[in-house]
Amino acid sequence: MIAGPGELHESDLKALSKQVIAHYGDVWTAIHEETLTRLGRMLGAAGSPYLIPGSGSTCLDAAVLNMFEPGQRIVVPNTGFFGVRLIEIATSHHLQVVEVPVEVGAPVDPGRVADVIGGADGVLCTHVDTSTGVRHPVEALARVAHEAGAVCVVDGISSVGGELLDVDAAGIELLVTASQKGLEAPPGLGVIALGPGGRERIEARSRRPESWYLDLLTWDWYRTNWSWHPHPVTMPVNLVRALLSSLQRIDRTGLRECIGRRADLAKRCREGLRQLGLEPVAQAGCEANLVVAAWTDDPAKVQSALLERGIMISGGLQPTFGKAIRVGLMGRTATTEMVDRVLEGVAASLGSDVPGAG
Ligand SMILES: *Cc1c(COP(=O)(O)O)cnc(C)c1O
Repeated sequence: MIAGPGELHESDLKALSKQVIAHYGDVWTAIHEETLTRLGRMLGAAGSPYLIPGSGSTCLDAAVLNMFEPGQRIVVPNTGFFGVRLIEIATSHHLQVVEVPVEVGAPVDPGRVADVIGGADGVLCTHVDTSTGVRHPVEALARVAHEAGAVCVVDGISSVGGELLDVDAAGIELLVTASQKGLEAPPGLGVIALGPGGRERIEARSRRPESWYLDLLTWDWYRTNWSWHPHPVTMPVNLVRALLSSLQRIDRTGLRECIGRRADLAKRCREGLRQLGLEPVAQAGCEANLVVAAWTDDPAKVQSALLERGIMISGGLQPTFGKAIRVGLMGRTATTEMVDRVLEGVAASLGSDVPGAG
């Protein structure tokens, strides 16, 4: 129950263990196409998304490369460990970064972004920063960006599948996610969804990005011209099959229903930890559904007590490093029973009783 990836559901594990098939031809293209269709629907994007082998960060790199050109200025809220990563990625692509400080546990204040956005080309923000378990108001940030003629690019790696977000309705230009968090598939695939504004931005560039693999036009070319092999590289067919199996499972229940259940589970986890004296890091109203972070003096002690019970959770990551535990609610173990076992283990490590038990 770490903060991603989670354990696979049995049916997805079966899809993963099938024999390798060719990454072209009718059998494969039907699998690939259905995966993109389901992903696009889930992300609320009318344009077909991109499925790119690599981790989520591969697509964060691609997002920055395709949306911006060297020398442009972008605003990046420092939401924690993954906000810092966005700053590092933007800097590595020679962008000028205007960092906006964010109080730990609080959502990004769109007003502070509005104060510094004049003259900038974009806002780049995490939807949920996995280091804090805080959900940030990316819809409001998109409005602030648009008022200033800038674009809004979102890292939704630990939000998609667990939070409601509709790329086209929110007017987000580009959203990144990955296979292994809320999508509950194995790690190894990144996803990019472009809103209409993102497409326009790509078409308005003065020149192509300095990458072949990460240039979205490379992916477009194969999609358009090689229908029998609609991507430029050999796809990890088994990962895509496991992802498709997971998307089919989510769709059988319905995305909204899945998100609602996950929100209830996250609440149960947060409330249980609070009753044991571990205050949630996230302020009321911005708590994420896929990861719960809670303050504690000795996270290592809590983690090792849980490990003795066969459950692995995460410690903190800056700014919660050494000061918090994080419980991932992703995959097969995102159940009431498992959350209750975590709470029992935390209680035992603190020498207290589980609230409400007995
Ligand atoms: C996990 C995570 C990442 C990194 O994803 P990788 O697949 O490890 O590259 C980036 N941003 C957020 C918000 C994450 O939760």
